[in-house]
Amino acid sequence: MAILVCGGAGYIGSHNVRALLDHGEEVVVLDNLWTGHRAAVPEAVKFYEGDVRDSALLDKVMASHPIEAVIHFCACSLVGESVAKPLLYFNNNVGGMQSLLEAMQRNGPAGRGLCPVDKIVFSSSAAVYGEPKHVPILEDDEKRPTNPYGESKRMMELMMHWVSRRHGIRYVSLRYFNVAGAFHDGSMGEDHRNETHLVPLILQVPLGRRDHVAIYGDDYPTKDGTCIRDYVYIEDLAAGHLLALKYLRDGGESQIFNLGSGDGYSVMEMVSAAREATGRDIPVEVAPRRAGDPARLVADSARARSVLGWQPKVTSMKDIIASAWRWHSSHPNGYPD
Ligand code: NAD
Ligand code: UDP
Repeated sequence: MAILVCGGAGYIGSHNVRALLDHGEEVVVLDNLWTGHRAAVPEAVKFYEGDVRDSALLDKVMASHPIEAVIHFCACSLVGESVAKPLLYFNNNVGGMQSLLEAMQRNGPAGRGLCPVDKIVFSSSAAVYGEPKHVPILEDDEKRPTNPYGESKRMMELMMHWVSRRHGIRYVSLRYFNVAGAFHDGSMGEDHRNETHLVPLILQVPLGRRDHVAIYGDDYPTKDGTCIRDYVYIEDLAAGHLLALKYLRDGGESQIFNLGSGDGYSVMEMVSAAREATGRDIPVEVAPRRAGDPARLVADSARARSVLGWQPKVTSMKDIIASAWRWHSSHPNGYPD
């Protein structure tokens, strides 16, 4: 049986493909390469360059491989862009989920039965919570997304909820907090050409790409005035997906899990950790707040820990940033495409 990884050429998807292969799984990747890279997926893996909204392509993939489960990473995922282009986000994210669930229903046990593709693990986001009333955030806390990106992720979760009840599909929705770092040997990492994430932007300073890091606001009600986030190491996140797959294989009911370390770090603490990890001076300049940034986002991941047995291993910010630095310093131009 094989696992279909949609969006497997992206940052998180490619690390998951690697983890799946290391666990002896057969993997099939589908990606339209909008933001992903062919070179991030090993040559030996069966790769379909195409769109998850292409129903005929999904039928072809599901008819050609004994797909048992889908891990769905495809999305447009830039908050600011989502405010500017909400329909792109609803079309690609929500439309992509609809297309995928329809294909699973057509090809699953209740459909043509070509393969029992009845399990899906989904990349959700802390963005579904919006501005939290309290932290750490629990899965059942209020969901009030503050931008179309977060709203699209919530709509995708709700779509899975209703479809699973009717069509015998079970799902795990993993709400990631801030994913960071690179594969431990520095051979793969984050390569977003339109980079907005803090850690790669900080590392652009020692790479010589920018002369300082902009700190988006130092007047938040936090210990040093800068925003606090919960950074989770990419390989720990990938381990969470393997556990989610096992949970579904063991017959687990559809469920939602936060994936975060449970510890919050401020932007200034991340810069300090990057100075330590790289041994370089990293100048900062305070800039205006970024619209829609909550002051503190920290996960309560007790459910993932107790139900899935998930335990993040790399929790030192210096170590997480050091892994990213190994990747960026050895691949200053990212992947070769
Ligand atoms: P990414 O952009 O690197 O990966 C997304 C991949 O999906 C890319 O390879 C892209 O080419 C592909 N894709 C997009 N639309 C597609 C479509 N219609 N058909 C086929 N392929 C398509 O992003 P990432 O940082 O790896 O994030 C992966 C997932 O995790 C996303 O769903 C994102 O919303 C979610 N997420 C990420 C973070 C984070 O910190 N990076 C946090 C929370 C949630
Ligand atoms: N941030 C910053 N400067 C940057 C990029 C990000 O100060 O150049 C801050 C941002 O305001 C947020 C935190 O770093 O508080 C993490 O931002 P990122 O975009 O990485 O993730 P998000 O929390 O938005 O998902």
